[in-house]
Amino acid sequence: MKICVLVKEVPDAAVEKRIDPSTGRMDRSGEKNLNPYDTHAIEAAMQLKEGGALQVDEIVAVTMGPESAVRALHKAVSLGADRSVHLTDDALAGSDVAATGYALAKALEKEQPDIVLLGQQSDDGECYTIGAVVADHLKAPSLTQVIKLDVVDGGLRCERQAEYGYDTVQVALPAVISVGDAINEPRYPSLKAIMGAKKKPLEKAGAGDVGIDGSLVGTDGSRVQCGEFKAPPAKAAGQIIEDEDTDATVEQIVAWLDERKLI
Ligand SMILES: Cc1cc2nc3c(=O)[nH]c(=O)nc-3n(C[C@H](O)[C@H](O)[C@H](O)COP(=O)(O)OP(=O)(O)OC[C@H]3O[C@@H](n4cnc5c(N)ncnc54)[C@H](O)[C@@H]3O)c2cc1C
Repeated sequence: MKICVLVKEVPDAAVEKRIDPSTGRMDRSGEKNLNPYDTHAIEAAMQLKEGGALQVDEIVAVTMGPESAVRALHKAVSLGADRSVHLTDDALAGSDVAATGYALAKALEKEQPDIVLLGQQSDDGECYTIGAVVADHLKAPSLTQVIKLDVVDGGLRCERQAEYGYDTVQVALPAVISVGDAINEPRYPSLKAIMGAKKKPLEKAGAGDVGIDGSLVGTDGSRVQCGEFKAPPAKAAGQIIEDEDTDATVEQIVAWLDERKLI
């Protein structure tokens, strides 16, 4: 059985997010990291492999992104993936969420996985959508926000977080499952695994290698059109009360809240 895990390189959480007004795209320069939500997907794959209830022969990390995204694949391999696939092509730049999901599905079609695992959201785009788009193209069931996975009758019984509580859903394989961060505590990679990551097999694929229709990807193939971007208005500075006399300070805070009808 093969598990593919979708992983994405994203700007580091400490980097301030901004849209580049000249391109209408997120400015992805600066420090980057493996999307933290994807480390939970890799860990879920590792636990399925180590749990022994399914015969998992291979875990494959798959990303679509520029040259630099190879670092996300190295990180994924250091966390346990056996090999990785890097879908990279200038024709894919500027793809919106539908185009990205289509391109990833084409790469996955070639791999024929039994399970596709991914993070519930990326730390930069935060669309929460790729899983559903990929599943639609693969004609496979899609489960989102999954926080528990059990192997039952050769399929998976999943508990998923919903607004009203939890759903328990059983799916046959193949299936596409996006996991929430409550599902597990990702392991830390060992030094040996970090050092060995670059030696694990990594396949580079262009759009044509996986049969992507060029008219459905990239800026021209994307249906989202970005209009004008404006920075949010600057917030007025807050009021700082120097605490020289605590009773007076409390009175001032209460008066401030009262004035705004907050108490
Ligand atoms: C007009 C437009 C142009 C854009 N141009 C670019 C661009 O040039 N470069 C760019 O990086 N983004 C671009 N984006 C953003 C890009 O569409 C989103 O990053 C992408 O659609 C995925 O959305 P998300 O990351 O919010 O996915 P979510 O649905 O929040 O992600 C869920 C999970 O999907 C998986 N995933 C998401 N993206 C990838 C990926 N690329 N590879 C592997 N797994 C993935 C991860 O496991 C992630 O945890 C553009 C968006 C728009 C609207």
